[in-house]
Formats: sequence, C-alpha cells, structure tokens
Amino acid sequence: MSGDLSGAARSALASASAPCQVKNMAVSTSDPSMVARTGLLTCVFCGFEAYRFCSYGLDTAVFAEKHVVGGGRRPNGLCPGCGSVDRERLVFLFLVRCTRVFHQSGLALLHVAPEPLLGCALRCFVGRGYRAIDLQPSPGVEAMDLTALQMSETSIDVAICNHVFEHIEEDRLAMRELFRILRPGGWAVVQVPIAYGMRCTYEDRSIRSPEARTVAFGQHDHVRIYGLDYFERLRSVEFDVRVLEPARLFGNDAIESFALLPNEKLIVVQKRKAP
Ligand SMILES: [Zn+2]
Repeated sequence: MSGDLSGAARSALASASAPCQVKNMAVSTSDPSMVARTGLLTCVFCGFEAYRFCSYGLDTAVFAEKHVVGGGRRPNGLCPGCGSVDRERLVFLFLVRCTRVFHQSGLALLHVAPEPLLGCALRCFVGRGYRAIDLQPSPGVEAMDLTALQMSETSIDVAICNHVFEHIEEDRLAMRELFRILRPGGWAVVQVPIAYGMRCTYEDRSIRSPEARTVAFGQHDHVRIYGLDYFERLRSVEFDVRVLEPARLFGNDAIESFALLPNEKLIVVQKRKAP
C-alpha cells in the first residue's frame, strides 16, 4: 500500500485548525470539506460514496444478547472502496477533528495492532515518530508484546490501541505498560467492544478453546466482554479516563454520513502531569 491518501482525507487533514473543547488536548475544529451529506455515505479515508457500505463483523449470538457496542455484525461497517472499517474511521475522524496529531512535528506515536488505513494515514503524516507494533511482525510493524514493551518510559506522546485489550489475558499489565511508556500529559485512544448494560466484565480463564471463546466472548480470539468496570481498570493504573460522545463531537449527521457506529463512544486516557 502506498502512503497516499485520498483527496478527501488530505483536504480534511489540511484544513483542521482552531482549538476545541477537549481539555488538555489541542483540538481542531470541524472542517468544511468533510461536512456530512444527507443520504450518501462517505468514507473518510478514500472518499468512496454510496447509499450502502458492506456489512462487517461476526454475527455471534453473545454480542447481540449482551448488546456489545463495537462487536457483532453491523450494516455499513466496511467501505467497499478501501476496506476501512467503522472503528478505524471513528478514530481517524477523532484524530483529525479533535487533536493536533496531524499537525504536530516531532510527535512520538505508538500504534498497536495497526489497522491498515489508519496506519497508512498516521505513518504518512507523523513520519519518523510513528511506531507500529503487533504480536506478529509485518512490513513496517515490529513484533512486540503490549504486556512487555521494549520501550523507555515516558517516550511516547500518543498511543492508538483500537480494539486490542479484549484479546489480551493480562490486560491490566498491558494498561500498565501503556501508562509507563506515555510521557506525562501523553494520551491514548483505547477502544474496546463493550457492553454498557453490564456492570462487570465477563471473563473466565478456564474458557480457552477458540470454539468456546466464540460462544462465550463472541470471537475466537477474544478473552472477555468488557462491562462498565473497564473504566475502573484503566483508572487502576492511574490513567485519567474520558468517555467522549462522537455525536456531540461531530454531530449526528456525521455519524450517519461517515458510516460510524451510532453507539460507539470514544475512550481516551491520559497520564496526568506531575503537579
Ligand atoms: Zn474507503
């Protein structure tokens, strides 16, 4: 894949400017080039327009039963033009509109288990400070375990960890590692599939086979379904946690027009600066 972005994405990235309201993060305004268009869906990565995108996700009973947001099969999940999925379009839109990631020189950004389109955009614009890791290496992606990061403490400004913790048995250890390598004031996007109707996370380490995990957790490589105590886990490693409503950040029309998940919230953690 080349490092090129579509015209829509380029103009979006080029036009974000003024600060907005997310505290302690430099946030950019909405930009006129990405105004939602009624009726048509538009991909924020490739500019593909259609009245429908492809369905995406596993049609597993437990996702529906527990009303898991960010899991299960959903209409319009996948862009037929570039293959981007709803969860990476959401994070991309957040980064473009609400942060200075694409306008900050010298940024050190860690992308865990990088999604192809989001990774392409970040690599292209962040440049040398972009670092991608995954359990299995691939071109441009280092082999590294999130629970044992081979990185200095306070060396990273921003981390993107989009639908990763639900795959990791020792998720608290991964959270601690993320906290360790972030600089004071550094922040991370930490999306997971989550059941907002469940107070407690459902996990059972005796469930180990891919088949049993699919039944219990919705996907063969998931080890839990997070409930509302996910935020407590994040706070337990000293993160400040913010749960942001995309509809309030971007407007309901944008959620629809950019084919984002209507109920997915943005979960952003920050390592507090020393007083
Ligand atoms: Zn696309």
